[in-house]
Amino acid sequence: MIEKTGVPTPQDLWKVFPPKERLEKGPVAIIECFQRIPCDPCYTACKKEAIQEFEDINDLPQIDFEICNGCGLCISRCPGLCIFIVDQTYSETGVLIKLPFEFLPLPEKGEEVDALNRKGEVVGKTKVVKVQNGRYEDKTPVISILVPKELSMEVRNIRLRKNND
Ligand code: SF4
Ligand code: SF4
Repeated sequence: MIEKTGVPTPQDLWKVFPPKERLEKGPVAIIECFQRIPCDPCYTACKKEAIQEFEDINDLPQIDFEICNGCGLCISRCPGLCIFIVDQTYSETGVLIKLPFEFLPLPEKGEEVDALNRKGEVVGKTKVVKVQNGRYEDKTPVISILVPKELSMEVRNIRLRKNND
């Protein structure tokens, strides 16, 4: 299905989501990589060795959620833009999501932006908490946003509101 639509099915997603108990412990990487392609920078980026060594360069990444500490280093290294950090312990009111963002202009810290789901549909508004601009080091910028808990496994992109004016 993802080959046709580019959007993972709920069944695809359940295979890569951490268990609820792990999500409740703190930040963790969610690797939404579903297509076998010759690619492994996520493995080499992870200094904690939370991502298993690939036997075949086309393998899908396998992550040990108990080893992953949610540092986010792998996000900016993934050319497929398919790694996200979800921190359900960030605050009483919101879940922190770190996501890769390759469009320009980049948002600014504190800016209100649209929160998008995997289909690119607007599912709410969110505030930018942090902008890590890796472009200077040839890495993908990483944007941190705050979303309500019920949207934490749904929001995977943002759109700047000023671009809609
Ligand atoms: S978030 Fe950090 S520890 Fe977790 S897989 Fe990525 S690089 Fe490794
Ligand atoms: S770097 Fe990204 S696209 Fe490549 S295998 Fe890892 S998760 Fe998949």
